[in-house]
Amino acid sequence: NDKVLEINDLVIQYITDDGIVEAVNGININLEKGKTLGLVGETGAGKTTTALSILKLIPNPPGKVVSGSIILDGINLMETSEKDMEKIRGEVASMIFQDPMTALNPVITVGDQISEAISIHQSVSNEEANKKAKEMLELVGIPGERMGEYPHQFSGGMKQRVIIAIALSCSPKLLLADEPTTALDVTIQAQVLKLMKDLKLKFKMAMLMITHDLGVVAKVCDDVAIMYAGRIVEQGTLVDIFNNTKHPYTEGLFNSIPNIDDRKAELKPIRGLMSDPYNLPKGCSFCDRCDYAMDMCKTIKPVKVKFSDTHFVECHLYKENKDFKLDKLK
Ligand code: SF4
Repeated sequence: NDKVLEINDLVIQYITDDGIVEAVNGININLEKGKTLGLVGETGAGKTTTALSILKLIPNPPGKVVSGSIILDGINLMETSEKDMEKIRGEVASMIFQDPMTALNPVITVGDQISEAISIHQSVSNEEANKKAKEMLELVGIPGERMGEYPHQFSGGMKQRVIIAIALSCSPKLLLADEPTTALDVTIQAQVLKLMKDLKLKFKMAMLMITHDLGVVAKVCDDVAIMYAGRIVEQGTLVDIFNNTKHPYTEGLFNSIPNIDDRKAELKPIRGLMSDPYNLPKGCSFCDRCDYAMDMCKTIKPVKVKFSDTHFVECHLYKENKDFKLDKLK
């Protein structure tokens, strides 16, 4: 069985004094060994909440998985104890975050941080853990002799490589990467992404890449899920999303990134801000910002329209006419 992650109808709420936010509102994800799914959207779309829920790290309160299920490598996470999760985190799934500095301990050498991650999960001698830590460091392109150095002696890109070494030290089946290269400059970003892609293939892992950047998606993802206000509004293969864009929000994301072929082309950011999460529109959550909005969009929630086995969208434009063409793409 190649299925590593299966999320079914997942609903996650944050219950605060100001009201209830449906951070994740009924999403479905399937991810197989060796594949990378890009989870794309603006801040507040529910991407990080989704990733944290896979490690059962949603702070409760105020967060709560209200319904749905998450099956990770055949394990139903709705039924696991915190003790089981301690084993699952790192061994079955591990996560890397945007800012490598907060994830590393400044007063422990990088070598010790990697070998510590190994010792927590595997009953090996210190010597073996150190040997493996050195191998991991070399695998991410850092000379083994630098084991005894501290995080401040490394550049941002190197620190992120150390984090990747820690995350992969117990050969997890799933790597969750939350904007792993956003804090890095562009050249380093490309190197780190290439490294992640190579290691994914080497370890035959599945990867969930959380990003707001379609350029990152193009470099590493096989499939793409576009998230908006807690829903996946469009999902497809990389080709479906890039060559056959259907959702006005996806189109807006493409229009708001620089066009490499046409440098003079004007950037067109998506107008407005994401709706107040405490007070989402009754119909389509995107209706206040959508250039194609119709009357029905304000009051009726769009349902899924399928274009193929891999590609679907939630938008009223295609309900009656599947051939509708978006015309605001450059
Ligand atoms: Fe725009 Fe309506 Fe489609 Fe929502 S359902 S994206 S408002 S056209």
